[in-house]
Amino acid sequence: MARIETPKRIRGTQDIFGDEQRRFAAVLEKFDRVRRLYCFQRVEIPVFEATGVFARSMGETSDVVSKEMYTFEDKGGDLITLRPEFTAGICRAFITEGWQQHAPMKLVTSGAVFRYERPQKGRFRQFHQIDAEIIGAAEPAADVELLVLADQLLHELGIADGVTLQLNTLGDAETRDAWRTALVAHFEKHREELSEDSQTRLEKNPLRILDSKDPRDRSIADSAPDIDAYLTEEAATFFRAVTDGLDAAGVQWTRNARLVRGLDYYRHTAFEFVTDRLGAQGTVLAGGRYDGLIGNLGGPETPGVGWAAGVERLAMLIEEPPAEKPDVIIAVEDDSAFKIGLRALKLFRQSGLSADMIATGSPRKRYDKATKVLAKVLVSIRGDEDSSEINTRAAQGVEEHERVKELVLQLVGA
Ligand code: ATP
Ligand code: MG
Repeated sequence: MARIETPKRIRGTQDIFGDEQRRFAAVLEKFDRVRRLYCFQRVEIPVFEATGVFARSMGETSDVVSKEMYTFEDKGGDLITLRPEFTAGICRAFITEGWQQHAPMKLVTSGAVFRYERPQKGRFRQFHQIDAEIIGAAEPAADVELLVLADQLLHELGIADGVTLQLNTLGDAETRDAWRTALVAHFEKHREELSEDSQTRLEKNPLRILDSKDPRDRSIADSAPDIDAYLTEEAATFFRAVTDGLDAAGVQWTRNARLVRGLDYYRHTAFEFVTDRLGAQGTVLAGGRYDGLIGNLGGPETPGVGWAAGVERLAMLIEEPPAEKPDVIIAVEDDSAFKIGLRALKLFRQSGLSADMIATGSPRKRYDKATKVLAKVLVSIRGDEDSSEINTRAAQGVEEHERVKELVLQLVGA
């Protein structure tokens, strides 16, 4: 007989179950709660887009576009890419769906994203992000709004203590050009000492050398000129408005003049919330302002700012949520009481109480099994449809107990 090969899970993907799933769900629930408090609307966007949407917006030299995209030709011959992030897709939607009429828009979304990278702890090929964006607002108040939202989310998740907000400005176009020239001059002097990757970056995207993790680059990057000397009056004023806003809102931050972020589209504010509790994968939430992006994609010049956070990394940091326990567990102790058990189960559920039933296996053991479920209320049923005996049991002070008793009366009275 031919052996059937057992299927394998693809490297870098995950099946999320049990306490891991509860952590995951807790992050998404908190995110949904907080986004409502801040009056952000939720959008759903496609899992795949034309490759150009990501290539043009994230920049050919970014890690994501140059190495990490899942790109393939579909049956119709179109080149498509599984979304490696949300911002580009949301901006595409803003353009193609004519959302200009709704600007400024405060939006969130969440779901799976895909990157072809080396799988390791906290780094997957299919992972999940939560994402928040404000599109059509040029004012620094929008940056502040998003950062305050992120800060409240981390506080509500109970992880704010181990996490610092690192903040930088990349200035406006004029600032960036001047700074870039100064950086290139500095790095040219040390070209031979730089890592191979950074020698390539020097041609294509010299800013990225600043956040290189290669030890050969570190001291050269650390001695590079800061952006501060090149900030235009306008860019400096913008950055000050952001930091003043954060101070006013009581959000702690530190300046990280080396923070440049991977994507070409950032302008002005760039930020990362970083923890020391996840080893090398320390960034839990990151983003910035991308005023040129929608224009670059061929849409109307529209400012934007946003952030994304990895759900898995947040889930690893939070305290384990309690296991889900039903409000009611029913033990059907006689097979002849099965139907009344079914009616009780439906009635509890329709009344908004979570309920489950034990009606199989040895009748003598069902009560014991039911006690092990640790539901708030235990309902045991004996006898048959015509003469059933229904008992309820709960610890002192359990709110749901009275409600269950009422429903049981309704059931036997009917
Ligand atoms: P990193 O420097 O860790 O590669 P990144 O700069 O590529 O992060 P972003 O593109 O800003 O990350 O994505 C936002 C968040 O998504 C990250 O802060 C992180 O929490 C999470 N993230 C990124 N890549 C992965 C991955 N491969 N697996 C799990 N989470 C990830
Ligand atoms: Mg990355």
